[in-house]
Amino acid sequence: MKIEVKELRPKKAVIKIEDTKPYFVNSIRRIMLSELPKLAVQDVVIYDNTSALFDEIISHRLGLIPIPTDLSLLNFKDECVCKGKGCPNCTVRYTLSKEGEGIIYSGDLQPAEKSWAITEDKIPIVELFGEQRLILEVEAILGLGKKHAKWQAVQSPSYRMETTIEFDKKRLNDVKSFIENLPKDLVKLKDNKLELLDNKKLPVLESYMDQENVDFLTIKKNPNNVIFSYETDGSFNARDALLESAKILEGKYSEFAKLLKELK
Ligand SMILES: [Zn+2]
Repeated sequence: MKIEVKELRPKKAVIKIEDTKPYFVNSIRRIMLSELPKLAVQDVVIYDNTSALFDEIISHRLGLIPIPTDLSLLNFKDECVCKGKGCPNCTVRYTLSKEGEGIIYSGDLQPAEKSWAITEDKIPIVELFGEQRLILEVEAILGLGKKHAKWQAVQSPSYRMETTIEFDKKRLNDVKSFIENLPKDLVKLKDNKLELLDNKKLPVLESYMDQENVDFLTIKKNPNNVIFSYETDGSFNARDALLESAKILEGKYSEFAKLLKELK
């Protein structure tokens, strides 16, 4: 197996995995969606709310704020040494107290410890007018995407097989006239090779081929080379989201192997 990083940004990654199979990449994808734990607000205590929004709407918005998650420091609350009572090993607390004109943002949530400060700090929660007030306290805990979408750290992970376009070399002129009418950023003809510039736009090319009844191009998909892309909500950076997910998958395989041994 070989991995090539095509794009790596703080919250987005595109990775080419060679010599693999789609089902393997899909298992990483499924882990990212449903089994990668992250922090999210679970309990909200509202002391005073004279804003235009109901307590429930504000709580719902608080639940969706991405909270930077360091898995090495946290336990699941129900598996923690505190036996679910809530302690610094499983619960992260924030307070918010604002009064008077202005928008309250996610960054206004003050963590009990600075290291848990919200980095996605410009998410609006509610706008206050006149002498309106909002005073509350929240508790964030680890959870899994399969229980609630607020615990889903990775958005739209997807994969596609590497695509190559082959054509009949005797019909180069047909190819040239066909691609002349295509959007400019779709394909490129170079050294008698037709290259798809953005793998995601394959359906666009296919629809043009259908429309023109093209019989001189063949699209070939290679299931052994897979391009995997995903974005995070900011709870993890893109690199950590992948590494943590791989760790979880590894754990599942070794647990399975252990169980198989016990079968003997
Ligand atoms: Zn605890």
